[in-house]
Amino acid sequence: MPTPPCTTTPELWWTTTPTAQQHAAAICHTCPLQAPCALLGADERYGVWGGRTPTERIAAQRGPGWWIDRHGHIRRPCGDGPAYMEHLKHGERCTTCTRAREEQTDARRRRVLAQEHALPAGGSIRGYETHRALGERPCAACLAQIAVRSAASRARQQTAA
Ligand SMILES: [Zn+2]
Ligand SMILES: [Zn+2]
Repeated sequence: MPTPPCTTTPELWWTTTPTAQQHAAAICHTCPLQAPCALLGADERYGVWGGRTPTERIAAQRGPGWWIDRHGHIRRPCGDGPAYMEHLKHGERCTTCTRAREEQTDARRRRVLAQEHALPAGGSIRGYETHRALGERPCAACLAQIAVRSAASRARQQTAA
């Protein structure tokens, strides 16, 4: 039976310093008892068990996708608005979250468009701007509202003149 590394310097496996915990966890991965030890310590609050730090165990308990960043913070799964905001706070770029946020923004724009198109005129200036924000050609009804506005402002200019 080989001797697990944690039995020779146990204090390292009970440290509360994150960097020291990482160090202990790295040594765990050379241990033949790593897998059973991780199972054994899955619900422990303290100590490094089978290559897992206490923070990593908490992250794993939150559910799939939770992770630990390089500062040792527990982070939520990628792919939604709150995760995007967390990246922003930590000065990170994440393509998954950026794309998810763009999709959310576009979905909100589509809802706005549906509202504007439900107006009696079938379109509006806001609708026109929303079409543009979505990167698409404005529909005829929204274009017509722009025409109405320019005609009105021309008429005002003529009355003023
Ligand atoms: Zn992300
Ligand atoms: Zn439109």
